[in-house]
Amino acid sequence: MSAFAVHTRATGSQARAGLLSTAHGAIETPVFMPVGTRGTVRTQTLGQLERLAPPMLLANTYHLLLRPGIEVFERFGGLHRWMGWTRSILTDSGGFQVFSLATSRTIDDEGAAFQEVVDGPRVVLTPERSIAMQRAIGSDVMMVLDHCVEATCEHAEAQVAMERTHRWARRSLAARGESGQLFAIVQGARFEDLRRISAAELTSIEGFDGYAIGGLAVGEERAEREDLTELVASLLPEDRPRYLMGVGTPLDILEAVHRGVDMFDCILPTAWAQHGRVFTMRGKVDLRKGLHRFVDAPLDETCECEACTRHSRSYLHHLVKAREPLGWQLLAEHNLHFYVRLMTDIRAAIRADAFVALREARRPIVMTEEPGDE
Ligand SMILES: [Zn+2]
Repeated sequence: MSAFAVHTRATGSQARAGLLSTAHGAIETPVFMPVGTRGTVRTQTLGQLERLAPPMLLANTYHLLLRPGIEVFERFGGLHRWMGWTRSILTDSGGFQVFSLATSRTIDDEGAAFQEVVDGPRVVLTPERSIAMQRAIGSDVMMVLDHCVEATCEHAEAQVAMERTHRWARRSLAARGESGQLFAIVQGARFEDLRRISAAELTSIEGFDGYAIGGLAVGEERAEREDLTELVASLLPEDRPRYLMGVGTPLDILEAVHRGVDMFDCILPTAWAQHGRVFTMRGKVDLRKGLHRFVDAPLDETCECEACTRHSRSYLHHLVKAREPLGWQLLAEHNLHFYVRLMTDIRAAIRADAFVALREARRPIVMTEEPGDE
C-alpha cells in the first residue's frame, strides 16, 4: 500500500491536496519543509520550531556526513533524538552539495569524491554510502544520490549525468533495506527530451515511494522552470508524491502547486531574514530601509509570530541595522510562519475548490514590494 494518497483535486488546475504518511506522522500536502541544514534550522530554537509546527524538516546529508559524522548518529540512534525533533525528517542525498559546494570534486560511475575545503580530507560519496548515512540519520524520506549539472550545460553533458543518475537510483534502491521511504530524482537539465526519458525510466522501476524534480532553481529563467515543472509533473504517477527540490519563493510555490507539485524546501525564509527582508500579506518588506525607523505598527498585523505580536517595525528595523542576532532570529521565525501559513491557505483553498481564485489573488502580491516600501 502506498504511503501517499491524493484526496482532492482542484478544478482548472493540476493542484492537489493529499496525505503523506511517515513513521513520524501524517503530512498534509502541499507542504513546505524548512531547511535544517546541519541539524538546525538557522537561528531557530526547538521551542520556536515546535510553535511553528512544520510537519517535516529537510536535513542535508552532505553537511551532516562531514560534521558531526555518521558515528554520532549511530551512537544516538538518529537525528530525531539527537536534535530533539519528533516530527518527520526528509534527507537529501548530498548530490546537490557536491555539485554546488565541494572543491576539487571528481565524479565517475562509482560515485563522487570531493574535498569540502582545500587541503581537507577527501570524502567519497557513493549511492550506497549516501543511503547508509541517510539510514543512520533515521530519515523518514530519503533521496537517491544524483549527478547535478549547471542549468546552462550542453545536451551531451546533461545526458551523461542523467544516465548516471538512473544507474545510481537503481543502486540506491538496492541499498535501502528495511528503511524509510525512498524518492528517485528526475534529471535532464533544461532539455525536454531528456526530462521525458528520465521520468519514463525512473517510473518504470518498481519500488520508489515518490519522485523529486531535480536540477531546477539553479539559475534558469522562471518561465523555463515553470514549463519543465509542468512537463515532468505530468509524466509522474498520480499516486506518488512529487517534490520540487530547492524551490522557492512564495510565487514559485504557488505556480508549482498549480502544476501539480506536492512538496517544497527552500532556505529563503531564513536567508532573507539575515538581510532584514521579510514577506508579509501585503508584499515584500525591506526592514533595512529608514522609512521604518518611526513606525509604531507590527510587521504584519495578520501574523501570530513573536516578531509581529510583541514588537514594532521601528524596533525590528533597529535590530536589523545594528546587526543584532535577535533581529535575524525574529525575522526568520516570521518568514517561516509566512511560508507555513501560505501552505495552510493553499491546502484549504484546494479542499474548498478555490485554488484558482487564491492563486489569482496572491500572485500580484507575493513578490512585489508592499505599498510604501518600493
Ligand atoms: Zn510574523
